[in-house]
Amino acid sequence: MRTQRQTRSHVDGSPRVSRAQSAAFTLVELLVVIGIIALLIGILLPALNKAREAGAKTACLSNLRQISQAVMMYANANNGGLPASARQPPVVLYNDLVRWQFTDVAAQAFSPDIALVGIGPYLKLTPSNVAVLRCPSDHTVTSRITVPGNPYTFSYVMNWAICGASNPEMDPFRKTRLSRVKNSSEKILLLEEDERTIDDGNCSVWSPAWPTNGTGNRLALRHDLVARKKFDPDPSPTIKYIPNSNGRGNVAFCDGHADYVERKFAHSKYHVLGNPEEAKNYPDPPMR
Ligand SMILES: [Zn+2]
Repeated sequence: MRTQRQTRSHVDGSPRVSRAQSAAFTLVELLVVIGIIALLIGILLPALNKAREAGAKTACLSNLRQISQAVMMYANANNGGLPASARQPPVVLYNDLVRWQFTDVAAQAFSPDIALVGIGPYLKLTPSNVAVLRCPSDHTVTSRITVPGNPYTFSYVMNWAICGASNPEMDPFRKTRLSRVKNSSEKILLLEEDERTIDDGNCSVWSPAWPTNGTGNRLALRHDLVARKKFDPDPSPTIKYIPNSNGRGNVAFCDGHADYVERKFAHSKYHVLGNPEEAKNYPDPPMR
């Protein structure tokens, strides 16, 4: 016997679906849609992360290019002389790259001198306009305290071997004139430094003292999603090799261009010293 419900139909002739059947159908449909969305997120999220990091890497390269060109302008205005590398206090020089020390650490307040010193005038730096000095993927700038009382909160540093530190007698391979740098398109002027080693504007990615003191400062790998997952031991005097040496980070060169290079490139004597001949008796660190 056919029930009334089964025999009844819509005016257009299609069979009528019960409320219970309708709800069950919608639930299955919903689960399928949720499944598809989950699958799409699983596929798209890594691609989105990759795209976001690629964008940050490009912005970071642009920062480095702008800073290196400001350094070139500084050199042109100073008879070819480069700014000093803005080392830790108490040595603060008016020819330093930038006046980075806070006048009030708790308020993270920079001195107005930031506008006047080194590259300040060329980048129109002010105490509240310092974004060009920070990598968009460097999330530790406001949290790291590596120098007691005065953290360096920028991401970029100068290559000590090219520009010298604030203290000339500490720098046996100091080169203060850009014109004395041979093959300038291959020589590193600036780089983004690993957040575990950055403590001022001065960076020794290669040093004649490394066999004794360990390998010191490191190129940051924050844009390299593959290298970032690999083991990267904390820097210490006992680490006598360059770890994760295929990992890449951003550097700028003495001709004003910037590139994304491997650690084994950035930590080699040839790319760090203006004239590697002067250090021919000193070795490159082993790379792993
Ligand atoms: Zn960066």
